Amino acid sequence: MTTEHRKAPRRDVLEIRRIGNWGHVQYMHILSCGHMETRPRASASPKLACVACLRIDSRVIEMKSVASPARISDVTDDEMATAETEIYLAQATIASKFGVPIDSVDVVTVDDGGNLRVRYATVFLTEKDVRRIASNKER
Ligand SMILES: [Zn+2]
Repeated sequence: MTTEHRKAPRRDVLEIRRIGNWGHVQYMHILSCGHMETRPRASASPKLACVACLRIDSRVIEMKSVASPARISDVTDDEMATAETEIYLAQATIASKFGVPIDSVDVVTVDDGGNLRVRYATVFLTEKDVRRIASNKER
């Protein structure tokens, strides 16, 4: 496993498809996040690290550090859409930190005079997630 794989968020394997010809068989793992991981062997584990998700996350962080923090008092539809995107990206980043699907993270916002503000976020963890995080296996 590469370092990248170790840092990548783990996703549920939904389906494993055998691809390729005899002698060149590979296994395509379809993950819960919608990405695919191709491996020379079918994974025995119900979860696989998704490098594609990790790459999206690092791109998101780069984008955020470049983005200007300037705010204009008149909020346009575009700005509202940007706020929604930021909230979605925050949700995605939190999900990847915990190694859970994005729909396990709920970011609650309020409309503060036309600005969307984050109030709090909840992360739903399954029994498996709790055990994995509590035993500190991933990081
Ligand atoms: Zn993914």
